Amino acid sequence: MKFKVLTIFPEMFSALDCSILGRALKNDKFTLDVVNIRDYSTDKHSKTDDAPFGGGAGMVMTCQPIVSAIRAVDPDRKMRRIYMSPKGKRLDQNIVKSLSELDEILILCGSYEGVDQRAIDLEIDEEISIGDYVLTGGELPAMVLINSVSRYIDGVLGSSESVVEESFSDNLLEYPHYTRPAVFEGLAVPDVLLSGNHAEVAKWRKEKAVEITKRLRPDLLGE
Ligand code: SAM
Repeated sequence: MKFKVLTIFPEMFSALDCSILGRALKNDKFTLDVVNIRDYSTDKHSKTDDAPFGGGAGMVMTCQPIVSAIRAVDPDRKMRRIYMSPKGKRLDQNIVKSLSELDEILILCGSYEGVDQRAIDLEIDEEISIGDYVLTGGELPAMVLINSVSRYIDGVLGSSESVVEESFSDNLLEYPHYTRPAVFEGLAVPDVLLSGNHAEVAKWRKEKAVEITKRLRPDLLGE
């Protein structure tokens, strides 16, 4: 998988150099190119924004640098082009899984009041939101997308870190986890987890997953 991100704040993406994704990047399990939109501005001051037509607060990112950057990065229109936007389709695990099957994803991060609509109309395939709230820029949403999608790429997670049995697989939230000690401040781990009986453990986990999902997210079960 190749990710290309277009942003005016490339330095923010150093957050992806740590932990599991940092290891995967170092081991070439996927690639991430962060492109500074400002480098493509033809303005003599490398401007990337201007005041909105029609008035109103804030600035709007101009078409030229964005369109030039996208066309330079993806000249043959081979990549899925996504604009992170609060107006987009809400990201969920099904969208994450289907994006993980692609070979190349281009992600445009907006700033200020957003992007001139014509750049979106000309160059973008789909808009994705990470939730019904507004952030100052598309960089954190882009990192959420990259993090969630890359977990499905072969070799990104270690063998002990699985995407199979976790929240949202089978439309269930995950069962609770426990580790040592067996008793902490008077609270004991459920006996079945210490029993060594794998079938009973699996049964208990499934029951807990259903119980927790019914209580916290009945909508996942269509209730
Ligand atoms: N004026 C826009 C509106 O009301 O819809 C909000 C613009 S927001 C301040 C600036 C940029 O942050 C957007 O262009 C988008 O790229 C990103 N952004 C903010 N919230 C987001 C969200 N929930 N999901 C995805 N991207 C978001």
